[in-house]
Amino acid sequence: MRKLGAALVGLSSLLFLFVPLTQAEIRYEVGRVSYESYSDYTRVFIGLTPGTGYVVIDLRNPPRLKVNLYPANLSSVSKEIEVQDRFVKKVRLDQETEKVVRVVLDLNISDPTSSVDLSGDGSRLLIEIRGPEEDLVAAVLKEKEAPIVKKEEIPSVTLPQKREKAVYTIVLDPGHGGKDPGAIGRSTGLKEKDVTLKVAKELARLLKNEEGIRVYLTRNTDRYISLDRRTEIANQLGGGMFVSIHVNSGYRRRATGVETFFNSRYSYGEGAEEVAARENRPLGSENVPDEAKLIIWDLIQDEYRSESNDLAHIVQKEMVQTAGREDRGVKSAGFYVLKGAAMPAILVEIGFLSNASEERMLGKEDFREKIALGIFRGLKRYYENKW
Ligand SMILES: [Zn+2]
Repeated sequence: MRKLGAALVGLSSLLFLFVPLTQAEIRYEVGRVSYESYSDYTRVFIGLTPGTGYVVIDLRNPPRLKVNLYPANLSSVSKEIEVQDRFVKKVRLDQETEKVVRVVLDLNISDPTSSVDLSGDGSRLLIEIRGPEEDLVAAVLKEKEAPIVKKEEIPSVTLPQKREKAVYTIVLDPGHGGKDPGAIGRSTGLKEKDVTLKVAKELARLLKNEEGIRVYLTRNTDRYISLDRRTEIANQLGGGMFVSIHVNSGYRRRATGVETFFNSRYSYGEGAEEVAARENRPLGSENVPDEAKLIIWDLIQDEYRSESNDLAHIVQKEMVQTAGREDRGVKSAGFYVLKGAAMPAILVEIGFLSNASEERMLGKEDFREKIALGIFRGLKRYYENKW
């Protein structure tokens, strides 16, 4: 079964062909929008001016896929294309800000798998929506088993009630990994990537026991993941919180203690810029995000800035108290790994590998457990208030 549909979004993209423009005068237009319906997936095509960047956000309740295009101009204020097939209800486009066009696919299925890709020449964006698939990341940590209700305990008249509380998804991001070791301790050679993974696993263990919490790790082995992929995973999982775990390496060897960051366009707090600069350049990273992507990512996290700020303060306080560490405070700066997160997002620096005594502590399980417990208490306080 195949259905073809098309809609013309902008005539100006045709005019564009006949008017010679210099590089500086390029107008980034959103062109023709069309779709193809198949029995097992739907494809939506959006014509673009090559050079247009995009960011994808999965949204639940109701299920939608949002794609922000930047820079991009829509010739009309808004546009709607009715699809009404198995996967997609309709496609909506509107000019969100001066240079950002928002594309929203209203979906007919609650658990979609999606992929978004640019054509080789950058002139077309292809969005594909399929049914649910076993997510590899989702399988990283097994969900708590559903409670088994014995047959005789089921009331004879009413059916078992659905759980009222929504499941709250927390995505933990152990910093670095694989070819990117992060900071390395001078006295024992302890690597940041190993410490962050151990702390994240411990934290996941604590969170897994909480009712209504689902926890995922962006990695659970020693492997390299790019910074943008980490946030992408969190967005795809529909995370309610994103926590990136890191270990500091100081400008001064004496520096000790813990600090928590959230993303902002301007740096705030002593040393914040240096920390961001270091964390934004993982060893062996091939592609540094371009300016357009960074701006659009900022727009996404901006919506959660005040919540990220709250979360950072709560976690920082609990971490300091539980682990008895020096309080370096909450700071903010531009962190690639936080920018694109469509949820409250923080980055914790749990100690200094550049300090010999903290390096020894970070190598010990009981210290890492205390840090994990501190972060856990902070997250718990935050989501309990949110509910
Ligand atoms: Zn790091």
